[in-house]
Amino acid sequence: MDYKLTYNQYQQGLENGEFLGILCHACDTVTFPPMGVCRNCNGTDLEVIRLSGKGTLRTFTVIRVAPEGMNPPYIVAMAELEEGPWTMGNLLDVNPDDTDMSLIGKNVQLGSQPVKGDIFSGGDSRVVTFTLTEG
Ligand SMILES: [Zn+2]
Repeated sequence: MDYKLTYNQYQQGLENGEFLGILCHACDTVTFPPMGVCRNCNGTDLEVIRLSGKGTLRTFTVIRVAPEGMNPPYIVAMAELEEGPWTMGNLLDVNPDDTDMSLIGKNVQLGSQPVKGDIFSGGDSRVVTFTLTEG
């Protein structure tokens, strides 16, 4: 199968502060993080696009018992991106011990941070992060 956007290209995008997704020409759905096919219709007529990096926080949880190598407590959140898809990431710059449901619906800006590889992953990589923005 011919991938429009490889994992390495996606990772390189994160490194450069770009959020690369795929736009389906069959149904206009945006998929992020990218997959080999459209998340809505499994279509393969895809185009690589740059997302705005803006989203709305939809849900989150505070991790207090973390996998090996991680430093709890921290916040894992899901945000709905301006272009439609929901994506997961760590919410930065918010104290996990002093937060509540008022976070839901806040605007966030995407970023990324490096994480060390562990026994469950294929090595070091970058993951999506969120920070709160005004408005
Ligand atoms: Zn589609």
